[in-house]
Amino acid sequence: MSGSALYETFSRAPLAFERGEGCWLIDGKGERYLDFAAGIAVNSLGHSHPALVSALTEQAGKLWHVSNLYEIPGQSRLAERLVANSFADKVFFTNSGAEALECAIKTARRYQYVSGHPERFRTITFEGAFHGRTLATIAAGGQAKYLEGFGPKVEGFDQVPFGDIEAVEKAITPETAAILIEPVQGEGGIREVPAQTLRRLRELCDENGLLLIFDEVQCGVGRTGKLFAYEWSGVAPDLMAIAKGIGGGFPVGACLATDEAAKGMTPGVHGTTFGGNPLAMAVGNAVLDVVLADGFLDEVKRKALLLKQGLAGVADEFPDVIEEARGTGLLLGVKCRVQNTKMQAGLRDEKMLSVTAGDNVVRLLPPLTVSDEEIRDALGRIRDAASRLSTPAAAE
Ligand code: PLP
Repeated sequence: MSGSALYETFSRAPLAFERGEGCWLIDGKGERYLDFAAGIAVNSLGHSHPALVSALTEQAGKLWHVSNLYEIPGQSRLAERLVANSFADKVFFTNSGAEALECAIKTARRYQYVSGHPERFRTITFEGAFHGRTLATIAAGGQAKYLEGFGPKVEGFDQVPFGDIEAVEKAITPETAAILIEPVQGEGGIREVPAQTLRRLRELCDENGLLLIFDEVQCGVGRTGKLFAYEWSGVAPDLMAIAKGIGGGFPVGACLATDEAAKGMTPGVHGTTFGGNPLAMAVGNAVLDVVLADGFLDEVKRKALLLKQGLAGVADEFPDVIEEARGTGLLLGVKCRVQNTKMQAGLRDEKMLSVTAGDNVVRLLPPLTVSDEEIRDALGRIRDAASRLSTPAAAE
């Protein structure tokens, strides 16, 4: 056996945390790290949020799991609340983002099938996308590095360049069922899709009988300052996958659908053992209680502006290290001129956690509950890291 008993699939940082408090993670030696990774946009309310701790422990004392053979009141309640606050009429709960995407892709194919178009099963996706690590979602993401060595790519995904409407038009064939897009690409490097592009995709779907699927696994649930990122564009999808933030650290995902889009999802055609179990639903409802409370999302917007403006200032000060600050809400990216892994390591030296992304970006995804003081603290650490990486003499 080599080294550890774990699969070697992750290149982990040499850090192990024992406790979390709000925006802070504390290791075994008591060192405190400012967490602007938030479990990759998962710990939406930070660590050990009292409302989540009490929702989970209270439910744990009553009932953990019954399976979807029975009614689960917490599940109906969370679904009704997601429906009341989105374009959707129906929800299917999962345990992860990839499963939510699988459900969305299957729902789109079934929609076409029951609409008399069994030949329509293909989904158009975009370069730089990330939709998960199942066989279908690596095919949807289309990235060679995730597909290599896993046998034939799952059939039915056609990829076009990011935001290229002409390429989408050309890619639509009589076999196309749906278009799938992240309104803001996360892993791809915090790349926002312009509202006009989303509008044109909506038109193309309507003109061609296709379903529009949004992947809001990373950008949804308040991260951009609205409950869902698509609200900024005014364009509603037919299907949407969410996960990450809705569980605040407990594994929860969901596929949201209009009645029409979900019309093929009849008893027995899809299922899950764990999805939507009482523990997950107790936490999901508690997350929504906080995120939907009056003023919460306005605060996210206000704090996001503070962080983004501060980042722009650091970028101006160290143009040889940072090219630009990009993104929306608390889904921000620093496009680096040095290697992004160096920037991430520099921040770690400052006891601050971040996440790398494509396009040489370092992502800053603090809990939505981050305070002004913590934002100022973070900016100080980013400035110090940038200053150490800066080589003005070499830039001249
Ligand atoms: N979609 C997007 C946009 C993501 O960012 C991710 C995860 O990073 C996924 C899907 C997959 O989610 P999961 O890892 O929970 O399967």
